[in-house]
Amino acid sequence: MALHVVDHPLAKHLITGLRDATTPPDRFRQLSDTLSTILILESTRKVRLLSGEVETPMEVTQADRLDQGLVVVPVLRAGLCMLDPALKLFPKVDVGYVGLERSHETAVAHSYYCKLPNLAGKYTLCVDPMLATGGSASQAIDLLKEHGADQITMVCVVAAPEGVETLQNDHPDVEIFAAAYDRELNAQKYILPGLGDYGDRLYGTE
Ligand code: URA
Repeated sequence: MALHVVDHPLAKHLITGLRDATTPPDRFRQLSDTLSTILILESTRKVRLLSGEVETPMEVTQADRLDQGLVVVPVLRAGLCMLDPALKLFPKVDVGYVGLERSHETAVAHSYYCKLPNLAGKYTLCVDPMLATGGSASQAIDLLKEHGADQITMVCVVAAPEGVETLQNDHPDVEIFAAAYDRELNAQKYILPGLGDYGDRLYGTE
């Protein structure tokens, strides 16, 4: 099973705040930021380490250092909220961008922007808070693979069964990290119970 649902009491508390329809955008952004930090931390457990030594004030001891380039790729626009947490945890991370827009009528996404570094050998995080149909995530991952990505992790806040199934079929090599695994999609392809449109909740748009 490629899906990992982060099982931490703080993550559960934060997602309750995100779900609450009365949470205003400023509070929503704070909650989203903290939850994204937890998600980025959990989803980077397999980053390669190099074992060496460090000299403490007392003696020389065995020590590990990060030994793999990391790239974070937010899917515009909602994925941008996960960029800052990634930069804070991993200041040397490279950043790419994929712009995908989902039609409100058909729920099908098209790419209007793509700027990616070479991803070969990198630990690549594709970040987009809502994994609904999985269509845009799958398209974004296609683009990452075209740019050489060979180790991709999908990081989202809420995952729906349809989105997880799409990714497992299209990209069985990709692991998915989420804070919640919700019930289903409605006719408009919104996640239920979900939290509404993440981008609109973040930025106060409709
Ligand atoms: N995107 C969102 O922002 N919310 C959903 O419920 C589904 C897709």
